[in-house]
Amino acid sequence: MEPTQAIEEALDSFGRQYLAAFAAASTEQALRDERAQLLGKKGALTEALKLMGKVPAADRKRIGERVNAEKAAVDAAFDERLRALHAEARARELTARPYDLSLPGRAPARGHRHPISLVIDDLLGIFRDLGFVVVEGPLVELEENNFTKLAFPPDHPATDMQDTFWVDVAGAPPGARTLLRTHTSSVQVREMSRRTPPMAIVSPGAVFRRDDDATHSPMFHQVEGFLVDRGVSMADLRGVLAAFAERLFGPGTKTRLRPSYFPFVEPGAEVDLSCALCAGSGCRVCKGTGWLEVLGCGMIHPEVFTHCGIDPEETTGFAFGLGVERLAMMRYGVPDLRLMFENDPRFLAQF
Ligand SMILES: [Zn+2]
Repeated sequence: MEPTQAIEEALDSFGRQYLAAFAAASTEQALRDERAQLLGKKGALTEALKLMGKVPAADRKRIGERVNAEKAAVDAAFDERLRALHAEARARELTARPYDLSLPGRAPARGHRHPISLVIDDLLGIFRDLGFVVVEGPLVELEENNFTKLAFPPDHPATDMQDTFWVDVAGAPPGARTLLRTHTSSVQVREMSRRTPPMAIVSPGAVFRRDDDATHSPMFHQVEGFLVDRGVSMADLRGVLAAFAERLFGPGTKTRLRPSYFPFVEPGAEVDLSCALCAGSGCRVCKGTGWLEVLGCGMIHPEVFTHCGIDPEETTGFAFGLGVERLAMMRYGVPDLRLMFENDPRFLAQF
């Protein structure tokens, strides 16, 4: 058979059967297989094309155009069906139910407050009941408010690089040194400098020191309280502490003051509360002593009043400060302070 005739017959027999085959292909792979039947290495159209070389020059243009048109028609039909398959798949995705109603439900995990926040809230609640106002101060402080005006001597070890995080702050007053506050007592200076007595203030918050072991963290929390008025005495301080102790650990809780030293009070004392767990008979938490060391306190030093523009001849006051972590560890029986800040949900979920 003449090559021209052979190609023409092949193209004639080709017909439009592939349209039905394409339409029947229900997946992209099936469609591609159908196309390979025509245009693949051994496809029908490919076989016909192999004869092109033998077609006489006179017929070549006509046959070539017909072959190209046939090929273009196959490609167009293929593209159309492929687009239709993609559209069908997308429509199925969009209309399919996105969830399985037969699966069991998953309850959302419910958050709760951190043990430190719980203890701070309890402490503030007690002091609010006693008439104290809650005030917060900044974590980044001037050296003046943290040390100088609290009558720390310039060479006091607490001011040392070893104990204090000194920081540079843009916008700090010229020549002023700034630090992460080492105690909440800086709030005393701030509030006494801008208020007129009488005042009864309690101030909670984070404080920072260069310490890191099982009982010390570089960041921990204190609650500071102070009361300033005419004629305030050590007896008033004892009264407030006794009321606080009974509210914290229950009726009958006893307080004990031991002389101690803090630069910003005179006289100063450490305060012990009778152990709530053993009622004073001695246990693991109080290390057999029957007493828990809970806070430091004293009468505000006259020099501190002078630094804050208050006349110490007319005015007296007391101040106290307590470590929140210590109290939380006692209350919840936590052996290592670092657990409080590692954010392990297995620990935190227990409160
Ligand atoms: Zn005890």
